[in-house]
Formats: sequence, structure tokens, C-alpha cells
Amino acid sequence: MARYTEAVCKLCRREGQKLFLKGERCYADKCAISRRAYAPGQHGQGRKKASEYGMQLRAKQMTRRFYGVLEGQFYHYYEMATTMPGKAGDNLLILLERRLDNVVYRCGWASSRAEARQLVVHGHFTVNGKKVDIPSYLCKPGETVAIKDKSRQSDKFKAVLEANSARPAPKWLDVDAANAQAKMDVLPTREDIDLEVDETLIVELYSK
Ligand code: SF4
Repeated sequence: MARYTEAVCKLCRREGQKLFLKGERCYADKCAISRRAYAPGQHGQGRKKASEYGMQLRAKQMTRRFYGVLEGQFYHYYEMATTMPGKAGDNLLILLERRLDNVVYRCGWASSRAEARQLVVHGHFTVNGKKVDIPSYLCKPGETVAIKDKSRQSDKFKAVLEANSARPAPKWLDVDAANAQAKMDVLPTREDIDLEVDETLIVELYSK
């Protein structure tokens, strides 16, 4: 599967906010957004008023990069969101938040969504007791995600869990750290999602 492989801090600087793409470094003083809070490139510090289309495009790119989803799949989520009851923008973010790789990251079982995706693909997690190795799997209320027993014992997992233990889990996930499992009690709401984006701009972009 195709992946973005260039310097990821540039993506945060382009969007003007932390997208948490690099694990522990994102929470340290070394974060590029803390040190150079302007867009990358020769004209990065110039002031430029964005057009309506430019703002819509930035909102879409920022959200897509935050969750590490490629364009085609992101549009597929948008299409799903428009068929669901409620606001399409809210639905879009909630769908992205329900991805298994995001749930693993939110539980503090990976330093970044990219690492979470890799761990999922390598088969380290179960959902309701069955192995699931598909990062885009959409978790549902009532389901329990867990780290496989054998994986928990590995030095790599012990280090990852220790490094991320201070990161609080969102309230829609009931994390049982001692047993390395988490139950999704309810669906997340827009208020639970810490991405600073105007999701209505994404809907406007795609509905043209
Ligand atoms: Fe973004 Fe993390 Fe790089 Fe900071 S360290 S700019 S949050 S990827």
C-alpha cells in the first residue's frame, strides 16, 4: 500500500498545528512546530491570504494527514459519512476516529498512528478475542480491543507501553491497562476529537 515517506514534520508545519506523526518527539521540546511555527519552504514565512478553495483544501489535507489516510480512502469515508444520519462533517471525523489503528494509538499502545498501523498489520491485536490485522477496521460500541498475550510479553511492547503510559485515553474508551484491553463504550462525539479543524470545509470541498 502506498504511504507518505517524506519528512513528516513538514506536514505539521504546512498545516500550522501538531499532527502527532512522529511519536515521542511530538511531546518533546524538539517538536518542529514548537521551534519553527511557520510553513516550510522559501516563502513559508510570507503572509498569504488563503482563498476559499485553499482553506477547504487545507482542512481536508490536515485531517487526512492527522489520521494517515490516503486520498481515495479518505473520500470513501466522506461518501459513507454523507449516507449516515447527522452532520456529514461530524460523521466523517467519527468514522476516522473508529479506525482500529487510531483506537490503538488512543489507548496509548503506540507512539503514533503510523506505528499503530504497523503493529496492527503485524497481528498484535484482537477484537472481541479474534485477531484483526486490518488498520481500517471500524470498531463498534461494545467491542473490546486487546493486545495479544504473547505480544504483551515482548520487550518492544513493554517499552512502547511504558513510553505512552502518561497519555490519557479518551472518555469513549474504557482502558484496562493491567489487562492491556480497552472496551469502546460509546461512539466518540465531535467534542471528543482533539483535531482543530473546521470539518464543514471538507464537506464543502467534496460537495462542489
Ligand atoms: Fe508534528 Fe510530531 Fe514533527 Fe511536532 S514532532 S512537527 S507534532 S510530527
